[in-house]
Amino acid sequence: MTQLKGTSKRDGSARRLSVQYGRKRVECQLLYSRRKTLAIDVNPDLSVVVTAPVDADDAAIAQKLHKRAPWIVQQQRFFQNYLPAIPPRRYVSGESHRYLGRQYRLRVHQGSEDAVKMARGQINVVLADTSQQRRIKTLVVGWLRRRAEVVFREIFEGVAPKAEHHGICAGSFDIRRMKNRWGSCTREGRVLLNPDLIVAPKTCIEYVIVHELCHLKEHNHGPAFYRLLQVMMPDWEGRRERLNQCILP
Ligand SMILES: [Zn+2]
Repeated sequence: MTQLKGTSKRDGSARRLSVQYGRKRVECQLLYSRRKTLAIDVNPDLSVVVTAPVDADDAAIAQKLHKRAPWIVQQQRFFQNYLPAIPPRRYVSGESHRYLGRQYRLRVHQGSEDAVKMARGQINVVLADTSQQRRIKTLVVGWLRRRAEVVFREIFEGVAPKAEHHGICAGSFDIRRMKNRWGSCTREGRVLLNPDLIVAPKTCIEYVIVHELCHLKEHNHGPAFYRLLQVMMPDWEGRRERLNQCILP
């Protein structure tokens, strides 16, 4: 059942309400506005905002919310799949950086030619002029981007034949920075991968690629999508779990 909680405030300030969906209770924020219809938004931080017309009565809001509960939970699950919570980096010597699920210490050295090399658990940045702080970031970000291209390509090409076998036209992928998601796909059937995904273990990168490949055939997160994902990658849930864990600060 859907329940409305709190005192009614129809002056534009927020009320809390909650909706029960199976065993899951979803907390929502209720706002009133001059709009004519009720709107529900699920944000990437999993918060739910319900915007109702000023004259909407509680019973009508509760009924609508109850009806949309499966969609709300589905949206939350979607954002939960893709929450890139990476703490901001400062690109200074000694700082730890994640690469393919492991921690690497950043070391800045003085040398004749600017370069980035990985060795013995360290990301070594060689700079002709070590006072150029911003140059360190440029070099490391560029290096990670090139690594992402190589690693993503390798994994994509590894899973593409299986996808084709399941009737998915795998095509190719592009690397694109996205604010709140690890992967996406275009209407033209190209997979988009966030370059920051290079922080995650390969098994998780593979999960994101397979997830997006399944979307090329099943566009939303309906039962058919999960059936396909299950066939393509029976252990996807564990990988998603790991992806969520490994990126938390
Ligand atoms: Zn999806």
